[in-house]
Amino acid sequence: MATDSKTILVTGGAGYIGSHAVFALQQAGYQVIILDNLVYGHQDLVDQVLKTPLIVGSTLDRDLLTRLFHEQAIDAVMHFSAYAYVGESVSNPSKYYENNVVGTLSLLDAMVAAGVKTFVFSSTCATYGVPQALPIPESHPQNPINPYGATKLMVERILADYDKAYDLHSVCFRYFNAAGAHPNGLLGEDHDPETHLIPLVLQTALGKRESISIYGTDYPTPDGTCVRDYIHVCDLADAHILGLEYLLKGGESTVFNLGNGNGFSVRQVIDAATRVTGKPIPVVEAERRPGDPPALVGGSDRARSILGWNPQYSDLDTILSHAWRWHQQRHG
Ligand code: UDP
Repeated sequence: MATDSKTILVTGGAGYIGSHAVFALQQAGYQVIILDNLVYGHQDLVDQVLKTPLIVGSTLDRDLLTRLFHEQAIDAVMHFSAYAYVGESVSNPSKYYENNVVGTLSLLDAMVAAGVKTFVFSSTCATYGVPQALPIPESHPQNPINPYGATKLMVERILADYDKAYDLHSVCFRYFNAAGAHPNGLLGEDHDPETHLIPLVLQTALGKRESISIYGTDYPTPDGTCVRDYIHVCDLADAHILGLEYLLKGGESTVFNLGNGNGFSVRQVIDAATRVTGKPIPVVEAERRPGDPPALVGGSDRARSILGWNPQYSDLDTILSHAWRWHQQRHG
């Protein structure tokens, strides 16, 4: 199948994971159109690095979507745009259900109306809730413990129903902890506000913050701090290309975990960042953050065996060194 004849609409393509997916799609020869409301996305990266057509707008705007699918010959959609602050989803669930669920529904309805039937979706390990065993397989029960995870699970359910009713085929990727940056140093993570461990640790190494707080030191884990499965953002992007091509070749709708299957504690991340940056990173021990499961590690055998996915950057020091290059360039 000639990829250069395919046009992919990427929602949230100005965001962290979406921008890496756009870059990977371009490298693989696809045409890309980005739809992003720029609430959290970065226009400068679209203009200067991705150099991709950008439509500034919301998935909640049904008229805009209808026009977009009418005017452009879109072959498939990758849907990254979502609000993703867990804490905010607890305090302001309306914002999350509206954008993440209603917005996705309007996007799917515009696709169905236009006869576009290929959809790659950013889901999350937050749909599992507190795991019963590690590593978590895709068959693990899904009991999200916050509205953010609930919105993603609802979309998974909508997609199963849209497949049956409208023949819309989808791949849902349940990410573990997206981390790192493009090795070219031009794309990376830049959230405002920033809440994620690795960028905050690197901002501390850069001297932009006095210290990093460790949220909880009494978890039932080897060193008492939370364990997470950090997966390089370029490995996530590669999986999206494989998922897209799986669907374009006629694969049936399915879900895949995307993780490395290795857990690292908060202390291990800080130690590795100290090593990689060569800078002091002062820590403060703090209370647990509400809603944090002690350990999340993903089993990704399905993505490996069905898609042939083979993460290139599973080493934590490599993930951190790419992120460090980006942070120095962007914030140094
Ligand atoms: N964390 C921390 N200090 C921070 C930010 C995060 O100790 O300033 C911990 C958090 O409790 C979790 C892990 O680091 O156990 C990863 O958190 P992050 O917000 O990066 O990702 P999440 O796992 O929430 O998706």
